[in-house]
Amino acid sequence: MTAEQILKKYGIKKTVCRKCILDKLIESENTALTESEITDAFADLFDRVTFYRSLKTLEESKVIHRIVLNNTSVKYALSEHLVLAKVHPHFHCTICDKVTCLDSSFLDKEVDFPAGYKVESAQILLEGICADCQKK
Ligand SMILES: [Zn+2]
Ligand SMILES: [Zn+2]
Repeated sequence: MTAEQILKKYGIKKTVCRKCILDKLIESENTALTESEITDAFADLFDRVTFYRSLKTLEESKVIHRIVLNNTSVKYALSEHLVLAKVHPHFHCTICDKVTCLDSSFLDKEVDFPAGYKVESAQILLEGICADCQKK
């Protein structure tokens, strides 16, 4: 899918900034990027307010999702790459710091929550060494 198709599918108005963010995330496939990795490509094109507003819109519309690492660094990934854009685990390589979305269905099972509880988000982070780093 192209950035245009994704924005259309989610019913979000196309802006140049939103398109740039999506293009960058599409290009990175299922590897999550930090804000600066996303902006690097077009840092001079937009002011920070525009960038953050666009990022927030995309996140609120569930086009992208954030992954928080160790409560300090935040990365963003496109939800579109996932067959099931639901709760899924992330893999964090402790050597190169790469974060990838894992499409895992073992989390789709029904979980018995206490009555009245409603889960709105979850963070499942697996840490280890990615394939590239193991080759080194
Ligand atoms: Zn690695
Ligand atoms: Zn993810």
